[in-house]
Amino acid sequence: MSLNSPAYIGRFAPSPSGPLHFGSLIAALGSYLRAKQQQGKWLVRIEDIDPPREVAGASSDILTTLEAYGLHWDDTELYQSQRLEIYQQHIEQLLKEDLGYFCHCTRKQIQQMGGVYDSRCGQLSPRLTQGAVRIRNSAQVEHFTDLVMGSVTVKHSFAAEDFIIKRSDGLYAYQLAVVLDDAFQQITEIVRGCDLLETSCRQISMNNILGFNSPNWLHLPLACTKPGFKLSKQNYANAIDRKRPQASINAALRFLGQQQVDIDDVDVMLKQAAEQFAISQIPQLSEILIEQ
Ligand code: GLU
Repeated sequence: MSLNSPAYIGRFAPSPSGPLHFGSLIAALGSYLRAKQQQGKWLVRIEDIDPPREVAGASSDILTTLEAYGLHWDDTELYQSQRLEIYQQHIEQLLKEDLGYFCHCTRKQIQQMGGVYDSRCGQLSPRLTQGAVRIRNSAQVEHFTDLVMGSVTVKHSFAAEDFIIKRSDGLYAYQLAVVLDDAFQQITEIVRGCDLLETSCRQISMNNILGFNSPNWLHLPLACTKPGFKLSKQNYANAIDRKRPQASINAALRFLGQQQVDIDDVDVMLKQAAEQFAISQIPQLSEILIEQ
């Protein structure tokens, strides 16, 4: 790391599948406050690599809402859709070094394997030349320590699976893009919702295989409408109100176990919230039920 780069670089990485709702505000606010408290940078990355799930106008809508909430990001926002060539170069390199391989197994075949892929295409000789691309998972990370959730261990079968890094429809998988971009943006700590807690093991495995350092991990409780159902664009979570950011920010602060701040100017409000942000107060729960 160069002398000029701050020690802490955090990020918020929304997928543009709809407007910001209370669930995504928690991830945005939590990652922002943590970065500001650490005198670090806070970057925004738009994860727009899945066009079928993208909603037209959602990216700019999300950015406008962040601005209205005083969540101003450092540097220019990064769009994953502008990084496709980089992803492809890595795919080709991984294939060349036999660290990845093509796979033509169907969903049905994988079900017949018990739901976990058994690496069979990776043993074929010669290797296949088309299909989905899987990483040859030599790292198989099954444990890490999270700054809020503590010690996290996943099932060995999940940790050991050769997971997909490029889909058979040609789209790059989240696991590939997220790891390449977090490394590219020199992210030192990832703050996000607990829906991605277990998948961190795969990202640490990818980092190990690619020779990248892994960042620190800090997962926040998920806002759920009923057990196991996170508030999401898919279950029609309401967009947060752009005209009254203070009320939603305070609700998100309370959700995160933080003191609320009764200051009208949103920038001053966030400054105070960052100063008092205490990760020890964040509930160590993967989900918390809220009223919609
Ligand atoms: N784009 C993912 C989402 O909106 C978040 C990815 C991440 O924070 O690693 O769920």
